Amino acid sequence: MINISPSKEETQHVKVLILGAGPAGLSAALYAARAELQPLVLTGLQLGGQVSLTNTIENYPGFPEGVGGTELGELFQKQAERFGARVEFDSAQSVDLSARPFKVTSENASYTADTVIIATGANPNSLNIPGETGLTGRGVSYCATCDGWFFKDKKVVVVGGGDSALEEGLFLTRFASSVTIIHRRDNLRAGAILQKRALDHPKVKFLWNTVVTEANGVDKVESLKTKNIQTGEEGIFPTDGLFIFIGHTPNTQMFTGQLEMKDGYIQVDERMCTSIPGVYAAGEAADAHFKQVITSAGMGAAAAIEVTRFLEKEAR
Ligand code: NAP
Repeated sequence: MINISPSKEETQHVKVLILGAGPAGLSAALYAARAELQPLVLTGLQLGGQVSLTNTIENYPGFPEGVGGTELGELFQKQAERFGARVEFDSAQSVDLSARPFKVTSENASYTADTVIIATGANPNSLNIPGETGLTGRGVSYCATCDGWFFKDKKVVVVGGGDSALEEGLFLTRFASSVTIIHRRDNLRAGAILQKRALDHPKVKFLWNTVVTEANGVDKVESLKTKNIQTGEEGIFPTDGLFIFIGHTPNTQMFTGQLEMKDGYIQVDERMCTSIPGVYAAGEAADAHFKQVITSAGMGAAAAIEVTRFLEKEAR
């Protein structure tokens, strides 16, 4: 269930304000709710976070047959709400962490909060090549789960050599007649199981040591300009779709200048504390290393446990 936010004129005070509703935010909400802190979660624009854009999650414990990304996000939310968390489909626009209570203004409302847990996640990177922006939604995509269906019996290209590229590329084989993975090296970054599955799949082909330099097409993607980075040879690669999975950038711009950060990631200690007492961060906004659903969920839980201790100490 999603609540409707209060109007912007009235400021609502909460003990725990959680920004983001991915695995980190909703796990934090579950733990804070069970500590009777009545947390409020502002979902941001992507309800469920990146997990909801993933077709099947096979490495979250407890689901031996795998679980749909959207389904897992919904289960996280349901469980948190069962213990009293409120989830609002609203996006924080600005934060003021200079003094407590912290101030957060969202699209629909204003809040003050005793503590804040930042779980704003990360967004997919773009290639920044000519044609990419103009053809986004017309053949260029960053989400196979969302757009794969449109490529039934079509040829698609996937860019990237990490877990996302291979996992999403394999998902696209359900629809597409062929999936060509274009990678800038001749060595995949993805884990061994995914590598084997992709390399063995009859519909998956690889183009190594190659980058895409242009996406071309009138109303939709028709071809890509490619370049072999070893030989310098350029080519035109006809395709109906271009799926880009080349990593993510943490969604933390709002906190620049207020919190300690490194390469865009909010710096936290082993207790998920940021540089400001009372402000915590969890998940991909603060994790440059692991970026798994389970590690994000664990960070969220840890942040909420720390929030509980922090508020208890203050109340003494
Ligand atoms: P990633 O591991 O950072 O891989 C990004 C890939 O894109 C790399 O192969 C990289 O090439 C390539 N790349 C980066 N910039 C590029 C550019 N400008 N042009 C062309 N290629 C470019 O990102 P990810 O695959 O999104 O994964 C992120 C994290 O989530 C990882 O920790 C991953 O393990 C995790 N994840 C796990 C699963 C799973 O366990 N099932 C699924 C999805 C994601 P290089 O290899 O040459 O650097």
